[in-house]
Amino acid sequence: MPVFATPAILLRRIDYGDFDVIITFFTLNKGKISLIAKGAKKSTRRFAGILELFSALDLVVGTGRGKGLPVLQEAALIKPFDGIRADFKKTAYASYWAELIYSWLEESFKQDALYYLFEYVLTQLDSGETAETVLNILFQMRLLALSGHGPNLAGCSLCRTGLEEIRQASFVFDIQRGGILCTNCGGSSASQMFLAKGTIKQLSWIASGSLAKAVRIKFSTQALEESTQFLEDFVSYHLSKQPRSLKFLRQIRE
Ligand SMILES: [Zn+2]
Repeated sequence: MPVFATPAILLRRIDYGDFDVIITFFTLNKGKISLIAKGAKKSTRRFAGILELFSALDLVVGTGRGKGLPVLQEAALIKPFDGIRADFKKTAYASYWAELIYSWLEESFKQDALYYLFEYVLTQLDSGETAETVLNILFQMRLLALSGHGPNLAGCSLCRTGLEEIRQASFVFDIQRGGILCTNCGGSSASQMFLAKGTIKQLSWIASGSLAKAVRIKFSTQALEESTQFLEDFVSYHLSKQPRSLKFLRQIRE
């Protein structure tokens, strides 16, 4: 049986029959993959309780010739991220990010920049060094950019006037165009959102440069609230649905 090895983060697990578990991983080398972990449900010795949500592991996976799922052969824990699972709110954030990756990515499509981003926000969430709300903004902004859906915040999406040249404190964000509009160009349809100029700048800053620098950006309370609402709505628009974990996250955040 051909095998491959890869670092991976556990996105989802479902019991399969009496003994086995079907697990979806986001892997560094193969993107999103689903595989079967035989004997993982009952046996405590096999995989010794390390196949937990959001855990980062080193995997060895066997791929059969048939149509069956690849089989997990070995797993070694790199980062348990148990600080996330021990905290209700952190679990809600990590579940939202995991669901976005799960619904957004096609199977077996390598995306290493997104893998490092996910690993980074989980590490920060686990340690508690960065506020959850900031990590949530960072993750969504960069996920959008990496998948080619980054919002246009550099200037008006219609007349192309740059942000700094437009004398306005607040901008309409046109969700269908995926960018901001100046008042000369902007209509007033109900689907539009509003972003303050300061919020737009902070969103642009967090979308570029090193991750370590990005998490040090100080968001004002208004920018945090506007960015959170805007990104969660914009991401849901691109997924054509509201993720289940987002509904839950919004409930517990209130
Ligand atoms: Zn314009």
